[in-house]
Amino acid sequence: MPASVVVVGAGFSGLTAATELARQGVRVTVVDRLSHPGGRSGRYDREGFQIDTGPTVFTMPELFRDIFRRAGRNPDDYVTFRRLEPGYHAAFADRDSVDGRGRIATFSDRDQMYAEIEEQVSRKEAEGYLQFRRYLEELFAVEFPSFIDAQLDSVSALLGNPKALVRLVRLRGFQRLPKVVGHYFDDERLQQLFSFQALYAGLSPLRALGIFAIISYMDVVLGVVQPVGGMRAAANALEQLARDLGVEFRYAHEVEAFVLHNQRITHVVTDGGSIACDGVITSADPGELAEMLGRPFRRFGGLRWKMSPSCFLSLRGVHGELPATLGHHNIFFGTQWAQAFEDLVDNGRMMSDPSTLVSVPTRSDPELAPVNAHIVYALEPTPSLNGRFDWDRLGAGFVDRFDRRLERFGVARDLPASVRYDIDPRDWARMGMDAGTPFSLAHTFFQSGPFRPTMQDPKIPNLVRTGSGTTPGVGLPLVMVSGRLSAGMALGRLR
Ligand SMILES: Cc1cc2nc3c(=O)[nH]c(=O)nc-3n(C[C@H](O)[C@H](O)[C@H](O)COP(=O)(O)OP(=O)(O)OC[C@H]3O[C@@H](n4cnc5c(N)ncnc54)[C@H](O)[C@@H]3O)c2cc1C
Repeated sequence: MPASVVVVGAGFSGLTAATELARQGVRVTVVDRLSHPGGRSGRYDREGFQIDTGPTVFTMPELFRDIFRRAGRNPDDYVTFRRLEPGYHAAFADRDSVDGRGRIATFSDRDQMYAEIEEQVSRKEAEGYLQFRRYLEELFAVEFPSFIDAQLDSVSALLGNPKALVRLVRLRGFQRLPKVVGHYFDDERLQQLFSFQALYAGLSPLRALGIFAIISYMDVVLGVVQPVGGMRAAANALEQLARDLGVEFRYAHEVEAFVLHNQRITHVVTDGGSIACDGVITSADPGELAEMLGRPFRRFGGLRWKMSPSCFLSLRGVHGELPATLGHHNIFFGTQWAQAFEDLVDNGRMMSDPSTLVSVPTRSDPELAPVNAHIVYALEPTPSLNGRFDWDRLGAGFVDRFDRRLERFGVARDLPASVRYDIDPRDWARMGMDAGTPFSLAHTFFQSGPFRPTMQDPKIPNLVRTGSGTTPGVGLPLVMVSGRLSAGMALGRLR
């Protein structure tokens, strides 16, 4: 009888883990309380609009495609990706207008990016870009295989590759990110464009370490793709692969508890009955898992985990035209930079002058909406529920200010909107996300690598964590790495 594993969660990490185990002969059952694959990569379907409610910026598609190749399948038979060039359209505000300091688009193509910077900024800065790109390539070549795509569940594992560590130090990986980026660019807008991505890891771009420049590499050098049919198409493809490999799915079922015998899980208890198993991989948020196991949600020394900021998301299905300046992914940088991040990350307050991501996926995939209609996906970073914003008292005022900002970006309030769906941190919390943030634990130094909740549970040998709450961390590429590594670890525990 082959070994059997229950995977809790059909998000990108759980789906990756399930396919990895199944292709190696393990019997796998995936349980999710939701009724669809993708986890927090959700979708809102209304009146012919198919609106993604989670991630929209898909990077490193080769990691995704490799999951299919390892299983002996052709990824192109399951899903198609389109490269977005430009990846982002950035607008830099001054006091008078949303693009008073200009606009710069990002291209993964080196020559196109050079030409864009030369035209919008200067040849000197374009030359700086070429040097920065070479630097990022080098950083990625050291950091990714040794510190991201690697099992770093102890300090000795972190120190186990001293050559790579020394190279990271030489590459200024432990200097502050602004210093690293400032080495290549004098222009403040380019400094912002190549460092804002630290926020994806829950960090202020001003305080993050140089190692986080790797996210800019994934974002603006490797570039952004869009699955045809939206993010759900990618999740469906992974689910289909898992089914093809024999994985069983139990949707709309909550995992409530684990039955242990001799410190090993023997059964997973769901609201639809219990499932016998030899091991468990779980992608539940670490706080929720701690609660299920009856443990405190604390790190060493009893300290509280620092959570990443959260976000307010406003999703619209609109009929009529949008300004031509709005491309697929648009970032509107506010006038303030340092103060905004101090507010958000250090003080848990709303950003005084926020930067906003506005995506219009129908620009490259019109089929996601009815004819002559568009999807608008607008995301603004906010404090998590651990911060100092009282949503019940101040939420309505915030939404009003947000709508006025969106209007300045070109999404007029009087556009006939047949669909509108807003999500704030209280909603993320209701969906089971710790502290109302979809971005899990912040990637501070002491919450990364061996200091993050380890994949291997410290007390239960056949319980393995996966996903954004463990290593390597947050975001689709990293949780797919996590899924693969966790499957390897679970297999080791079964043998
Ligand atoms: C608004 C938003 C924007 C984002 N933008 C980006 C982006 O542009 N690019 C990017 O790369 N990343 C982005 N992210 C982050 C990215 O979506 C996540 O890091 C990633 O999807 C997490 O995957 P996961 O498998 O770890 O967790 P999840 O997708 O949350 O999967 C966990 C699953 O476990 C299930 N579960 C948990 N507990 C139980 C239980 N007790 N019983 C049954 N089921 C349970 C949950 O229902 C869920 O389906 C964004 C996220 C959000 C929400």
